Amino acid sequence: MDNITALGGDVYEIDTKMAGYSGITAGYLILGDRPCLVETGTSTSAPVVRDALASLGVGPEDLATVVVTHIHLDHAGGVGDIARFFPSAQVVVHEKGARHLADPARLMASARMVWGDRLDTLFGQMSPTESERIVALGDTGAIDLGNGRTLSSHYSPGHAKHHVGLVDSATGDLYVGDAAGVYLPETGDLRPATPPPDFDLQTALDSIALFGALGPQRLLFSHYGPVDAVQETLERSAEELRVWVDLTRQAHSEGMDLDHAVAMVRDRTKERYTALKADDPTAEHFELLSGAPSNVAGILHWLDRVSP
Ligand SMILES: [Zn+2]
Repeated sequence: MDNITALGGDVYEIDTKMAGYSGITAGYLILGDRPCLVETGTSTSAPVVRDALASLGVGPEDLATVVVTHIHLDHAGGVGDIARFFPSAQVVVHEKGARHLADPARLMASARMVWGDRLDTLFGQMSPTESERIVALGDTGAIDLGNGRTLSSHYSPGHAKHHVGLVDSATGDLYVGDAAGVYLPETGDLRPATPPPDFDLQTALDSIALFGALGPQRLLFSHYGPVDAVQETLERSAEELRVWVDLTRQAHSEGMDLDHAVAMVRDRTKERYTALKADDPTAEHFELLSGAPSNVAGILHWLDRVSP
């Protein structure tokens, strides 16, 4: 299938085609004795993911584990559907996200407030997962991939308070979710992802430092794909956070409203990103996944908490 890329080490990248777009949301299958899916994508992506798994030989009873880095709808919106398609799979999530997968009503209501009518076309509805199938992770945890291979989880808040990074013992791959920002393989651009309501600068920087300390061999971004230059990329992630926070802090101290702050930060950061400079069509991917309005709103929300 054209939405599957073999990455070596029995790891397959699956384009989950959020809202029909290619190349913005990745899920990953770790194929082994106990096949594990990392990130389901949205609810409307679930049939795409099921078909991709089927073409890799993973039938309804074969999937052992589904794990999500966090419960935002572009990562976990399809958990309930995937759990229904693969009735033997356990669903693994950080303990702060577990109850929302069992009962998504509040999560969906707050997403509806942010996205309005676009919610249905972008994400669809998360359906509930039976709570007895949910395994909640603490600060660390381990998923058995079979044959002595494990996927270890590391609590990494900052982008979201229920975020984990995942390290594969066989490959040294680190699934970074959104904790290191959003990477565009077409241009090599990297942007921060600092949405409301959980963003916190020091927590986010600590999580990036933790990722560095884990010594991964490769980063696997949910948006989007593998990156080999680990330390350089993590340093860039931290720098991006600082630049966006500094500019937003300046807008905040000048008393700008959200619209003016967004316009200022967008203008002053534009030169950093090839896609935006070149008016590249991939720039619209940034706007969907780490748009300036969402990033600036998240930073302002945090600033109001720490220095009202
Ligand atoms: Zn995301």
